[in-house]
Amino acid sequence: MKKNKLVVIGGDAAGMSAASKVRREQPDFEIIVFEKSEYTSYSACGIPYFISGEVETIEELIVRSPSEFIKKYNIKVQTLHEVLEVDTDNNKVLVHNYADKTQFWEPYDQLLIATGGKAFCPTVENHTSDGIFGIQTLTSGIKVDAFISKHQPKKAVIIGGGYIGLEMAEALILKGIKVTIVNRSKEVMNSLDPDMGKKVHDALQNLGVTIYNSESLSYFEEKDGIVSAVVTDKKTIKTDLVILGMGTSPNTSFLANSKIKLSERKAIKVNRYQQTNVKNVWAAGDCAETRNLVSKKPFYIALGTVANKTGLVAGTNIAGGNLKFPGVVATAVCKICVYEIARTGLLESECKEYKIDYVTTIIRSKTRAGYFPGAKDIFVKLLAEKKTGKLLGGQLIGEEGAAKRIDVLATALSSNLTLQNIIDLDLSYAPPFSPVWDPVQTAARKLIGMI
Ligand SMILES: Cc1cc2nc3c(=O)[nH]c(=O)nc-3n(C[C@H](O)[C@H](O)[C@H](O)COP(=O)(O)OP(=O)(O)OC[C@H]3O[C@@H](n4cnc5c(N)ncnc54)[C@H](O)[C@@H]3O)c2cc1C
Repeated sequence: MKKNKLVVIGGDAAGMSAASKVRREQPDFEIIVFEKSEYTSYSACGIPYFISGEVETIEELIVRSPSEFIKKYNIKVQTLHEVLEVDTDNNKVLVHNYADKTQFWEPYDQLLIATGGKAFCPTVENHTSDGIFGIQTLTSGIKVDAFISKHQPKKAVIIGGGYIGLEMAEALILKGIKVTIVNRSKEVMNSLDPDMGKKVHDALQNLGVTIYNSESLSYFEEKDGIVSAVVTDKKTIKTDLVILGMGTSPNTSFLANSKIKLSERKAIKVNRYQQTNVKNVWAAGDCAETRNLVSKKPFYIALGTVANKTGLVAGTNIAGGNLKFPGVVATAVCKICVYEIARTGLLESECKEYKIDYVTTIIRSKTRAGYFPGAKDIFVKLLAEKKTGKLLGGQLIGEEGAAKRIDVLATALSSNLTLQNIIDLDLSYAPPFSPVWDPVQTAARKLIGMI
C-alpha cells in the first residue's frame, strides 16, 4: 500500500481515537497530531471531580502522554502547536508552534479535524477579568483549581444552568463555596422539559444553591483586576468567582476561509462515514455535526460518547475500512451531589417543532422496593407518539440508582420500541435494585393508558 500521511488537528477524544485506530489498521501510515494545549488524550469530563478534590491529581485525568504515543504507537503528537488555517487546494495546514513562536506549513494526504468545542464566552464589559472561567480543556480546569487555592473564594456565580454548570456547582459546594446560578431560560437544565427542570431546581435548592431563572448576564464588575460582581438585567450579585456554563460551540473559526462546509451553528458537515465535503478531509467529535435518530434531522451535540465513537468511525475509514456512524438519540447523564439526572430522545418543545402528535406523563416511583432501606424517589417522564405508541423520549431524576435507567430508554429509542414493547421487556428485579415494575415500565404503563 502507498505510504500515506495523516494529519490530525486536536489531540483528545475524537482525534486520538481516530489516530489509534488508524495505527492499529495501518502500521505504515505516518501520523502527526497537532494539539494546541499542553495536554493530549485527557478526560475533560473529569475536570469537575478534579476541582472538587474527588480526583486528587490532574495526571489521573490523562490517559496517555505524547511520549507514550510515540514510543508505543509511533504517533507523533505535537503539543503547543495550533493549526491556524487549512488549505484544501494544496493539502496542507498552517501550524503555529507556541514553544519557539514559529509558523510552518505541514502537508497531508488525509486530514482529520477533531478540534472539539469551546465554552461560550460573552464579550461583555470586564469579561477578561481574573476569576472568570469557561471549562473546556484540562488547562482551564487547572486554572480554576489554582485560582481557588490562591484566593479561597467564599461565593461563586455560575452563568448557565446546563450540565457542565451543574457539575461545577457540585464541585464548588464540595469545596464549601456558596453557589448562585444565573440562568437565562425558564428553568435550569434546558436539555430537559421545564417540568423536569423544576425538579432539578428543587434538588439544587435542597443543596443550598440560589437560582435566578429567566435572568441574563449584562456585564461583570471587577476590583484590582479580579471579578467582584455579576450584573444581570435584574440585579447585581457580589461574587469571588465566576464559572461560565453557557454552552459549547464548535471550534471551527480557523476554517472560515476554507472550502469545508459548516452548519448554521458552525459545526462541520459530515456524512455517516465522517467525511466532509472535501476529498480526504474528515471530521469527528464536538467540532462536527451528527444526526438525530429520533427526529431524523441534522443535530449538534457535544459529548464524549459521541466524540469517541465518531473518532473510531473516522479512523476506521481513513485506514481504508467501511464503517458508518448511525447517529445519536441524545442520551446524557449527570450528577449533582446525591441527585442523578438523565435524558434521551426528544423534548416536548422538539415534538412541537417537528409537529409530532405526542402524549406524555411523569410518574414518581422508588429506586428500590418501597420497604427496602435506602429506597428513594425517582421521577420518570416519557414521551410517545400518539398514533403508534412509539417512544420519543425520556427524562429521569432521582437519587442513587436512578440515572443509568436511561440506558433502557436509549436502547428502546435506538430500536424504535413502543410503550408496549417497553412494558414487555424482561427487566431485572430484586428489592435492593428496584420495585417489581421498574420505574421506566411503570411510566410506560401509565402513558399507554393515555393513548
Ligand atoms: C466539564 C466537562 C464535563 C463533561 N462531562 C461529560 C460527561 O460526563 N459525559 C460526556 O459524554 N461528555 C462530557 N463532556 C464533553 C466531552 O468532554 C467532550 O464531548 C469531548 O471531550 C469531546 O472530544 P473532542 O475530541 O471532540 O474535543 P475536545 O476534547 O474538546 O478536544 C479537542 C482538542 O483540540 C484542540 N484544538 C482545538 N483547536 C485546535 C487547533 N486549531 N489546533 C490544534 N489543536 C486544537 C483542543 O486544545 C482540544 O484539546 C464534558 C465536558 C466538559 C468540559
